[in-house]
Amino acid sequence: MEYRTASDTNGKHVAEYQNGFNADLHVQEEEEGGRAGETETRSKLSTIQRAYSTVLTELGEDVDREGLLRTPLRAAKAMQFLTKGYHETTQEILNDAIFDENHDEMVIVKDIDLFSLCEHHLVPFFGKVHIAYLPNKKVVGLSKLARIVEIYSRRLQVQERLSKQIATAISEALEPAGVAVVIEATHMCMVMRGVQKMNSKTVTSVMLGTFQEDPKTREEFLSLIRKN
Ligand SMILES: [Zn+2]
Repeated sequence: MEYRTASDTNGKHVAEYQNGFNADLHVQEEEEGGRAGETETRSKLSTIQRAYSTVLTELGEDVDREGLLRTPLRAAKAMQFLTKGYHETTQEILNDAIFDENHDEMVIVKDIDLFSLCEHHLVPFFGKVHIAYLPNKKVVGLSKLARIVEIYSRRLQVQERLSKQIATAISEALEPAGVAVVIEATHMCMVMRGVQKMNSKTVTSVMLGTFQEDPKTREEFLSLIRKN
């Protein structure tokens, strides 16, 4: 079985970070922290912190005023957290979570929360992900689909690539007859600049296998996700 790993999309970055995960920075969220490489992550943190200090200064801010004293450090930690998907692979999270089942009906998980960062402006985009697959013997715990979304959304992204990466990851892990991924998201880089109205959404979809080949299957999925 083949899995898509983080290095497929960002080889250098992953190589640099693979041992460098720092549990300290992600206390509540991470189980697998505390490994070697903590020192390296810490030194990266202070480099990022200094960079943020420079950015604030160049924007005309006084980084010594009280409200900003810890902002470069907080921003650096926040950015590391929001991009922590680079250290994670679907292989790690799907380990032991794939089961053999004689189930060949469509599995749908709707309305998975999505929070990501647009790679062009480093500003959030957020919304909902709807996933369906047609099992070919293998099924996976439903919560794992949400974890796959998280792995790929906690990186710098564009919505189209994110949709494709989620679909491909599921396809490679479960080898299903088909996978469908639809993402509806609001991009703050557009909303805040007035390019887009507050309530308008960008919708992307990726259909693989049966969902691509069979209009009836695709339509069934689309009508199911439209229902409330
Ligand atoms: Zn943007």
